Amino acid sequence: MTADCLFCRIVAGGVPARVVHETDTVLAFHDITPQAPTHVLVIPKAHFTAVGDMDPATAGDVLQAAHHVAKAEGIAEDGYRLVFNTGRDGGQTVFHVHCHVLGGRSLTWPPG
Ligand code: AMP
Ligand code: ZN
Repeated sequence: MTADCLFCRIVAGGVPARVVHETDTVLAFHDITPQAPTHVLVIPKAHFTAVGDMDPATAGDVLQAAHHVAKAEGIAEDGYRLVFNTGRDGGQTVFHVHCHVLGGRSLTWPPG
């Protein structure tokens, strides 16, 4: 637990979240500002700053949970996108690693 980390506070129960999936090692909850009809964040319960800081077992748990969430939210069949924004240029704003699970509409890029 890192006291000044928003997502550590969600893990600890000090900040509310709409949790959709939980294991011993990961937590998944709805993004507060969804960018797609389905937008869930999957985080490790332990604090890691960014994707490259996770040990392989934790990274695997996050990816496995992301696919579980996609199936549970009904977007696995049509397809979905996993995003790890990383660092300043990557657009990371919360420095507790999180996997965005996005779907429910076409996300092809470039559009069209
Ligand atoms: P990133 O820009 O990749 O660091 O993503 C951070 C994400 O966290 C953004 O999509 C925010 O909308 C989301 N977010 C920020 N605060 C909360 C919160 N309290 N509960 C759920 N999602 C949040
Ligand atoms: Zn944290």
